[in-house]
Amino acid sequence: MENIIQLLPEHVANQIAAGEVIQRPASVVKELLENAIDAKATEISLIIKDAGKTLIQVIDNGIGMSATDARLAFQRHATSKIRKAEDLFSLHTKGFRGEALASIAAIARVEMHTRRPDDELGTKIRIEGNEITYDQPCVAPAGTSFSVKSLFFNIPARRNFLKSDSIELRHLIDEFQRVALAHPEVHFHLYQQSSEIFNLPAGKFRQRIIQIFGKKLDTGLIPVEEKTDLINIKGYIVRPEFLRKTKQAQFFLVNRRFIKNRYLHHAVLTAYEGLIAPQVQPEYFLHIEVDPKTIDINIHPTKTEIKFENEHHIYSILKSVVRYGLGQFNAMPSLDFTKNPELELPYSYKDKAPVFPAVKVDPNFNPFKKESVSASHNRHSFSEKKPNWESLYTGISLPEQEKITFETPAHQTSLFESQLMDQSVSTFVMANKFLVVNRQEELIIIHIKRAHQRILYEQYLRSFSSINSVSQQLLFPISLEFSLADITLLKNLEENLFAMGFIFSFQDNTLVINGIPIYIKENQVDFIIRQCIENCREEIPQDPLLRNDFLAKSLCKNVIFNENQNLSTEEQLQLINHLFASENPQVSPFQKPVYTTLKINEIENKFYL
Ligand code: ADP
Ligand code: MG
Repeated sequence: MENIIQLLPEHVANQIAAGEVIQRPASVVKELLENAIDAKATEISLIIKDAGKTLIQVIDNGIGMSATDARLAFQRHATSKIRKAEDLFSLHTKGFRGEALASIAAIARVEMHTRRPDDELGTKIRIEGNEITYDQPCVAPAGTSFSVKSLFFNIPARRNFLKSDSIELRHLIDEFQRVALAHPEVHFHLYQQSSEIFNLPAGKFRQRIIQIFGKKLDTGLIPVEEKTDLINIKGYIVRPEFLRKTKQAQFFLVNRRFIKNRYLHHAVLTAYEGLIAPQVQPEYFLHIEVDPKTIDINIHPTKTEIKFENEHHIYSILKSVVRYGLGQFNAMPSLDFTKNPELELPYSYKDKAPVFPAVKVDPNFNPFKKESVSASHNRHSFSEKKPNWESLYTGISLPEQEKITFETPAHQTSLFESQLMDQSVSTFVMANKFLVVNRQEELIIIHIKRAHQRILYEQYLRSFSSINSVSQQLLFPISLEFSLADITLLKNLEENLFAMGFIFSFQDNTLVINGIPIYIKENQVDFIIRQCIENCREEIPQDPLLRNDFLAKSLCKNVIFNENQNLSTEEQLQLINHLFASENPQVSPFQKPVYTTLKINEIENKFYL
């Protein structure tokens, strides 16, 4: 039989490749703006017509190209930015694939003028569907101008897939803003149908944020900064009261490149925990600098996703930095639990200039020693007179990834135990639902179920992160039967269940349990395992930390709290102590308030209306 494999003609190959790089007008904008930045431009204009469908033009005052380079630039895999494979690990430019111009030329009509500042004449090239139709010397300003017309003129199917002008324009402006935000030192213009809609003169990062998002945000910005061996973070977070429900500004700029990372977003989100309502999202503008060796931006052609080598450490540092920023600028809520002035000090930071500590990473740090992270990462770090910032970061050099949790271990001993014992506190349960604490000049009203959830959630997280969970051996094994599908699901969760302290084996459709975590009662096991399966049926996050968080939340969601069972005084005190020793007593893992207070003056006010 005849051989049937053939090489695709170049223009077909380019069209296929273009499909990955250029999805819509906004992708062209991104590529051209990034090329202009790579060409060291200090002023860049973007001109668009009909949301980029008719025209996208980018004019820069950068280094320009020689006549030969100008032709070469449109070849696939033609790039001046890397020469050998190793260069991929020390990238300081936006582009490196040499694909963008070839792709754009494959699916649009392109005209380019370019001149290097020292050359007398420049070059003008026209190219259509990869065919050069014009190539002559010309008079041109220094720098480069690309105009891209009739996007997808030769691929009607793709053209038809484009959305309405207003949607495409939104994408395009988003892209423009991302690049502009990452490069405040560059002057940007955006013209649409010949009117200027953005004029962003060069300035500092804060000015650029305000140019784009409006003056109102100015007073809402909290500066944050941190330098460690691993990572430098610098930028702004937004005070909780300035957050909007619509359109959120969430920017991670990693080595000056806008990226999306769900995991790092989660770090910021947890740092805001308790300060914002569930439907409100934090906003942030954070420059993150890491060694290019430690990231992989290669995983996606449009490069907004990114993989970090030290993701878990970066997570912890980021969360601490954001929390510190929030605490320092008075954004953390008052603990409001005691009149002890020692504990009310975070607010005295208000008038002091922020001092940002250098991070020390202790190479000998062993998280499993007793004096581990406990006293460092937790909420009380913000309430102590002299926060021990060194110890805050010492905990970050954990040797093995899996051992960091979302919320780091809280105090081993209770902060409030001695005080509660010392002083005359009385407690009682109201309506089987609230635990009321009468404390000096105020009443603290605790939602019992939510308090349980908070305590259990942190206990679960801790157990996921420790190597040797403590189990209680069962005298008689518990056998639970499941469908085959559920058994597969349980096998998938095997490691997590072991980490919690469950000891078990599978026998066909039966789960035989020989040991259980110490903080679970034997009669709760059936319920907990079945609940866990229910919650995991839909989806379980693959990332180990997101997964732990997900499991811990699903396991504590329906805590078994017997409403008819009265809590003894001792149990009441225990609950209070555990709650306030936890990292975040104010809110349940589901962002609901856990306790409230009623002060004596509030009560008095009711009598003197
Ligand atoms: P990449 O950016 O990945 O190198 P591109 O296809 O985007 O690939 O560009 C190819 C080459 O063309 C670049 O490496 C650069 O040398 C040159 N080039 C592109 N745009 C410009 C510009 N605005 N100014 C100067 N040179 C440019
Ligand atoms: Mg490029």
